[in-house]
Amino acid sequence: MPGATDIKPTKPLKNPCNLCQSVRAILKRPKTGQQLCKECFFHVFETEIHNTIVDNKLFNKGDRVAIGASGGKDSTVLAYVMKLLNDRYSYELDLVLLSIDEGITGYRDDSLETVKRNRDQYQIPLLIVSYKDLYGWSMDDIVKEIGRKNNCTFCGVFRRQALDRGAIMLNVDHIVTGHNADDIAETVLMNILRGDLPRLQRCTSIITNDTSEDSSGIETSKILRSKPFKYTYEKEIVMYAYFKKLDYFSTECIYSPNAYRGHARVFLKDLEAVRRTAIVDIIHSGEALSASVQANESTKLPTMANCTRCGYISSNELCKACLLLEGLNKGLPQLGIGHTTKIRRMHEASNLASGLSSPASLSSAVADGSAGEKVKVVTHIKDLGQLETMPTLDSMK
Ligand code: SF4
Ligand code: ZN
Repeated sequence: MPGATDIKPTKPLKNPCNLCQSVRAILKRPKTGQQLCKECFFHVFETEIHNTIVDNKLFNKGDRVAIGASGGKDSTVLAYVMKLLNDRYSYELDLVLLSIDEGITGYRDDSLETVKRNRDQYQIPLLIVSYKDLYGWSMDDIVKEIGRKNNCTFCGVFRRQALDRGAIMLNVDHIVTGHNADDIAETVLMNILRGDLPRLQRCTSIITNDTSEDSSGIETSKILRSKPFKYTYEKEIVMYAYFKKLDYFSTECIYSPNAYRGHARVFLKDLEAVRRTAIVDIIHSGEALSASVQANESTKLPTMANCTRCGYISSNELCKACLLLEGLNKGLPQLGIGHTTKIRRMHEASNLASGLSSPASLSSAVADGSAGEKVKVVTHIKDLGQLETMPTLDSMK
């Protein structure tokens, strides 16, 4: 037949994408080992997050949701994907970015510039709240005072409250954070190694909305918090950010010692090298353990009350942030570190030394100036009890 010999059979595609079969695969999914092309990877990555959101009923239509944004890869990808899914699946969420400025020169100041660019790129309004404004102390000030030991304890307690306070200023129902599967698996491991069951319970919940302080002293609030990346692998977040060419900041905090978490991370990576599903397996084990903890009567949560100084939710007279601030202001930074009973004893002893009998009398003594030079307490956090006087997002744009 004339010309029949001109048609060359098409060569089979070398290394085709496992999903579409029509394009060459350019990556191997760390989570499943599938070889995928870029577009199929984007599709499965986004769809899995959408399924996590829907299966766990994370949002209601019309919710106002703050995205905790640090400028790092996780929160940048979170902001990008939340906006994309919100448009694609009509979640009808009102999205805002909420950043915390811990006051860490050479780290947070630079990463906040990234968040400001993300605000403009994604057209999502941004509010930044700073430790200096909320507590009178930046992390640079705190590290100058206490050194590089325990700085992350202060930072963690202050951040939790700062996020809640920012959320109240923004009038949001819900905060989403970029905690990924690797972070959660590391935290599960650390809490198992410490035998800290209440924290284990919290770290495995995809959504938290408790209104009390749990028995380990972790304060919780009425504002919902969730982790849409609970089952998303860190390596895939990095791949997604890389292939989407997202603008993110990748430097580590200059005060990051966190040796314990570092060891948990190395251990986890070693496990993952021999068993791909190790991360998700650990999360599932954590979930199973915390379900049995929940069923146990003896781990009941203490009754909710409010901090007598700032009004934040606390099961003790003073919330953890006020206790830490009191220590900083009295030159006794170890006051808020360690076990609750030990802290309470130190707190009482320090009040006795100042001639004050209780936190309430401490507050009033400070308020009327009768504490004199002996006790210097920053009252910013107390003033923030009246959050309705806070600036609105519109005024901060
Ligand atoms: Fe704060 Fe520690 Fe994280 Fe730095 S590493 S941002 S000091 S918690
Ligand atoms: Zn307080």
